[in-house]
Formats: sequence, C-alpha cells, structure tokens
Amino acid sequence: MSEASKPGNFITQIIDKDTEAGKHGGKVHTRFPPEPNGYLHIGHAKSICLNFGIAERYQGQCNLRFDDTNPEKESVEYIESIKRDVEWLGFEWADEPKYASDYFDQLFAFACDLIKSGKAYVCELNAEQMREYRGTLKEPGKDSPYRDRSPEDNLALFMEMRDGKYADGEKVLRAKIDMASPNINMRDPIIYRIRHVRHHQTGDKWCVYPMYDFTHCLSDALENITHSICTLEFQDHRPLYDWTLDTLETFHPQQIEFARLNLNYTVTSKRKLKQLVDENHVEAWDDPRMPTISGMRRRGFTPTSIRNFCERIGVTKSDSVVDFGMLEHAIREDLDANANRAMAVLNPIKVTLTNYPEDKEEIFSVSNHPKNDEAGKREVPFSRNLFIDAADFEEVPPRKWKRLSLGTAVRLRGGYVITCDEAIKDEEGNVVELLCSYDENTLGVNPEGYKPKGVIHWVSANHAVDATVRLYDRLFNEEAPDAKHEDKTFLDFINPESMTVTTNAKLEASLAKAEPGVGFQFEREGYFCRDLKETGMVFNRTVTLRDSWVKIEAKG
Ligand code: ATP
Ligand code: MG
Repeated sequence: MSEASKPGNFITQIIDKDTEAGKHGGKVHTRFPPEPNGYLHIGHAKSICLNFGIAERYQGQCNLRFDDTNPEKESVEYIESIKRDVEWLGFEWADEPKYASDYFDQLFAFACDLIKSGKAYVCELNAEQMREYRGTLKEPGKDSPYRDRSPEDNLALFMEMRDGKYADGEKVLRAKIDMASPNINMRDPIIYRIRHVRHHQTGDKWCVYPMYDFTHCLSDALENITHSICTLEFQDHRPLYDWTLDTLETFHPQQIEFARLNLNYTVTSKRKLKQLVDENHVEAWDDPRMPTISGMRRRGFTPTSIRNFCERIGVTKSDSVVDFGMLEHAIREDLDANANRAMAVLNPIKVTLTNYPEDKEEIFSVSNHPKNDEAGKREVPFSRNLFIDAADFEEVPPRKWKRLSLGTAVRLRGGYVITCDEAIKDEEGNVVELLCSYDENTLGVNPEGYKPKGVIHWVSANHAVDATVRLYDRLFNEEAPDAKHEDKTFLDFINPESMTVTTNAKLEASLAKAEPGVGFQFEREGYFCRDLKETGMVFNRTVTLRDSWVKIEAKG
C-alpha cells in the first residue's frame, strides 16, 4: 500500500491543513534524529516509520540526523548500526546523513548572538547551587548572581570557555529567560557546557558542547525541517524550542509530539538495553532476544513485519502499552504467507523401517508452501533410517493421541503411513529407537477404508544435516519489567527460558543451503532462520506457530 493511500492520523491532519494553507509552499521535510549512544530499538522503528512515512506520503524528504552532543556516550559503531537499521527497514534519507556536530560553528555563533542581545549569560554556580536556585514545581527559582553581567563580559568569558581556559563544569552558558516560569525548562536553561573530551566527528576542535534543547531546534531550523515530530516527553520543552527560534529569528519548524511506543514484556530504554549488554545478560546488542532492530533482524523478523506492526499500532497523543503478541502476530502473518516450509527434528529419536530395503532410497517432491504454488517444490530424500521427534511417540498414549504409539499408524508428512511395532529401550528404560513398518501403498494416498489419525514430521537419518537450534522466547516473564517493583529491578524478571539450545537437531537435507536470515516454517515447530552471524548450521527460532503466552496467562 502506498503511503498516500494509508489512513491518516492526527499528525497528517495537521500537515494537510498546513499544505492547504500553503505553509512552506506545501513542502514537507521531516527528520529522524537519533542520538548515537546505543542501537535502535522497536520504539525507534515507530518513529522511523512515522517520519519517513510522512515524507513519502507528501512526496517530501526525511533527514537522518545524528544528535551528537554527548561525545562521551556516543560512538561510530552506534552511528554505523543506526544507518544499517534504517536502510534495512527500507527507508532512504535525503542526501548524506547529517550530524548536529556539522553545525557546531553555527550554533556557537547563535549562542554569541544571544549573548550580544542580552539573552544569554555565563554562570558559575556549581551543579548543586544550580539545583537550589532552580526552585521546584511549586516554588519559583531565584536569579543567579551572575545573571546581570554585561554582554561584553559574557562574550569574553564564553570565548575563554571555548579556548579551554576552564575545567569541566566550572562555567556554563545559560539562556536568560525567566526564573519564575511555571515551566522549569524555561528557568534559564543551560545551553552550553564545558567538556574536555574528544568528539567522534569533530575530534579535539571543541571543548564546549551545546545542550540538546539548544541544538535540536536550531538543527531543525538549519535543515529547513517543516514538521519536527518527537515523543510526548518533549511537550514541556516546546516553549524553549519556540523561544530559541523566535529570539534568534530563524526559520521556525513546528514541533509536534506523539505518544512513544511501550511494549509489555519489553524494556525500550537504551540505557537499560546497554546494561543488559554490558553485564552480559545477553550476548550483544544484536542478541536475538533484544528488542533492538538488529536483534530482531537476527531473530528472523522481516522489515515488512516491523512496518506492518508500526502501521497497526497507530499514532496518537495518549500513552498506552502495546501487547507483545501484536509484534509476534505481525511476523507470524508475514512468514505464514511467505516462508517456505521444511522439516526439522529438534529432539530426535531413531526410527528404523524394518520392511524397507536397506539400500533403497527415494526422493519425494514436496511443496514448499501449501497455499502458494509459485513457491515450487523441493526434493526430500527418504530411506530406511529416519528421525522423528521424541515427543511424537508415547508408549502409553493419553486419550485422543494423534501421534505415534505402539501398534498405531501415523502418516509421515509428504511420505508413507508407518506403524510402530516395537520400542527399544536402554538399560535405564528410556526409549532409544522405534522399529516400525511402512505401507508401500500409502504414498500420498490413504488406503481404502482407513485414515491414519495424525501426521508427523521426520527426516531421513542417512541424509540429515546436523544443526544447533536456539529456541528463543520473550526476554522478560513480567509484563512491566520496567515498572517500579518492591526491591526488584528489571533484571530480576529476565526469563530463564528466554533461550534454550538444542545441539543435536536433525534437519532435512535441503536446509544445508538455507541463506542466513531467510525465514522457514519448520513444520509443526515454528518459524526459524539461519543465524546471520554464526558460520555453522545454527538456526534461531523467530516465533512459535501459536501464541503460547495467552494460555499461560489464562492459567494464572
Ligand atoms: P531511549 O529512551 O531509548 O534512550 P531516546 O529518546 O533517548 O530513546 P533518541 O536517540 O533520542 O533516543 O531517539 C530518536 C528518536 O526516536 C526520537 O525522536 C525519539 O523521540 C524517538 N523514540 C525513542 N524511543 C521511542 C519510542 N519508544 N517510541 C517512539 N519513538 C521513540
Ligand atoms: Mg533522546
């Protein structure tokens, strides 16, 4: 579906009005402004789909701009990962990626303009005093004793700050607005601070760095952004956004806020995701259990599934929590329609067909997709020695058992009907092998008058590919791991079963050629893809066939 034909939301309504009124000559230019201090997560995907989607809808453009004003927390690794993730989702930014640091010279000049017009001053209160002077939500703040310095003195001090004469924190530059404002963001906010650290883009050129609020609005203005879309927590910063641009008389983009994505069973805060990585609770930022875009890619999510999900959750102005099941539904739906089927036995037990000749082999031609003939067929080899899943055999079956047990028959998917004649056990009584017989008249047809109760999957032992299969599940087993819990943190809710590894899985031969990252439905098991990083035969479970969490919750 093209962006223009999709249903709109409150933001497209605002833009429709603007374009009708001829504002910005009908042009729409948005931006996605990540700080490169971590990998992007599913919440960012919502913002990406929104900003790039709006640009597409109005045949406008969207910039990718790195908001890089905190060099000590940022890195080139994060920048590269962000570019990769936006591209992978299928979006194209206008021109080259932009950096707030591209504008450091201009931002410095803007700060000097504010100083010259008496709208900014150098302050020497330390952090603690600053807090004291700021006041509270109930009480107004107090003017800093440095507030009334002359523009000349302020300008000279600001130059000295830039030239490295002072230590970190010794002085700051503040906007001179209103210490009694009911909005604390307007109580003479800091706009520049001293940080003697090397910057990943500008090297050692600067030891003063602009603050986010000052940088963001001016970067938007310098890029002629028409609609600056951000999350609700910036609503209280909008007066400062507007004050800065009005006072400096620049181009004035319109800030519009929307509700961020919250997902249950998930944390979406870069700080917490970084903690999971740094403390080795997960393997890396792209661990398939992480809600990062790179983790989801490794897990087997497709760009389409993530974009459909973002489309469905919609864009509103009120906070809500989205059920993780919606995300799983989006990937199941895409893979059900588009992933080829294959057979894999995750917990193998040997089956010997005693009446099948030892040296015989057959090749069955099996459909890759039950509902899509265009997906074609593949060759599946068959022999006397098979593997089936141990869970598909019960010596003493429960009622309504539709799988294999002693004396009963089941159909092998795409193959013959077999009957189990004997279970061979080891010394401890564990079943280690099943002796079965096959009925040669049942290939693709049921013999007259009888129908096997069930169908199970299998692989030919003579042709099987050995693999490691990682069964992933939700990373947290608590709906709101992030919320305040008595003497517990989100780390206490890590699901101990978020990853179980099987190292002796047996895959059908065709999977030896599976491309990393391409999804398959392993019949009766779920959706899987070969891992993007591991070199051997390692498969990740993307999602189960059905939502098992709904039932678990109902059981309490
Ligand atoms: P985090 O809280 O995870 O650290 P952030 O807001 O600090 O995220 P940024 O790099 O500043 O991360 O985010 C880039 C853009 O993505 C911003 O416009 C931000 O509003 C948006 N964004 C971040 N998290 C979400 C979310 N959960 N839902 C929607 N948009 C989000
Ligand atoms: Mg941020």
